[in-house]
Amino acid sequence: MTLPASCGEASSAACGFPRNAAQVASHRCRVVEHRQVNARYRYLRLSADADLAGTTRPGQFYQLKCPAVEAAQPFLLRPMSVYGTGPEAGTIEFLYNVTGLGTGTLATLDVGSTMDIVGPLGNTFELRPEDQGLLVVARGVGLATMAPLLRQAAQAGVAITAVMSARSPQDLMRDEFLRGAEADVHCVFDSDGSSAVEPVEALVRRLLSARHHDAVFTCGSHRLLLLLQRVLQDFPATRGDVAMEQRMACGMGVCLSCVRLFDDGQDKRFLRVCRDGPVFPIRHVVGEVEFG
Ligand SMILES: Cc1cc2nc3c(=O)[nH]c(=O)nc-3n(C[C@H](O)[C@H](O)[C@H](O)COP(=O)(O)OP(=O)(O)OC[C@H]3O[C@@H](n4cnc5c(N)ncnc54)[C@H](O)[C@@H]3O)c2cc1C
Repeated sequence: MTLPASCGEASSAACGFPRNAAQVASHRCRVVEHRQVNARYRYLRLSADADLAGTTRPGQFYQLKCPAVEAAQPFLLRPMSVYGTGPEAGTIEFLYNVTGLGTGTLATLDVGSTMDIVGPLGNTFELRPEDQGLLVVARGVGLATMAPLLRQAAQAGVAITAVMSARSPQDLMRDEFLRGAEADVHCVFDSDGSSAVEPVEALVRRLLSARHHDAVFTCGSHRLLLLLQRVLQDFPATRGDVAMEQRMACGMGVCLSCVRLFDDGQDKRFLRVCRDGPVFPIRHVVGEVEFG
């Protein structure tokens, strides 16, 4: 088993996931739009002087400096996937769920105020020139991470099949996910039981059997990750990538708080989700770690 010190750029390159670490920088941004999307999620659009659209890739994230308010002063920056960029070079978008202290103060930001973000961080989803069809399986806010991939795939003429999972139809955010991209969409919900493991596994197997998909992409749910790991064993010609959401502190590979165990079939290694990921091959993630 290898520790993360030995697996920086080399491991990411070995995985085949492109990165653009040389372009990481701190940006002072202006809040140009900030609003509630539904009962759970908020949309934030920022503007910077730098070319964020030109340097940010699908699957990457930024560390957000959430504002200090009287009742709370978040110290660590909070990782947030890029939901979108452009059309102006300096525009960047986030879609987030208010879950705790940092996202709570983030929600208080007024239009016109400023905030600092650091990025782009991490690697990207890999869409290959020969890809003709892909399946995305997204749950909750994981759709924010995958929305730029959908846009890229649609622009490249790749056929998209999407399985969207949510607590209820009110939480789904179908339009926010597709953003005009055409896709064969299948929605499942906790509220009617259709998002349970068994029916989703049957649905994914049916979709992959009906037509060849070059790749499966997912984000946002450990349960879906394990499900896809199981299913992909029976579809060896289909690649699978997951963008992992892991609690992290520095977001730059220094503090090692986000290490997870991976197994590429030859070696087991602890890798940093922030620096070596967050995108990894689904088949390499070790789902359960047993401590002897
Ligand atoms: C690569 C990546 C991309 C993400 N993208 C999004 C997104 O697009 N939209 C969205 O709503 N959320 C996203 N998250 C989760 C988001 O970072 C957490 O919800 C947020 O940090 C919670 O902070 P908090 O202070 O409100 O919560 P608290 O629970 O008060 O946070 C305490 C500490 O734990 C960390 N933490 C808590 N939950 C998470 C988590 N799930 N992942 C990582 N760190 C966490 C916080 O950063 C903070 O340091 C992403 C996480 C990662 C790792």
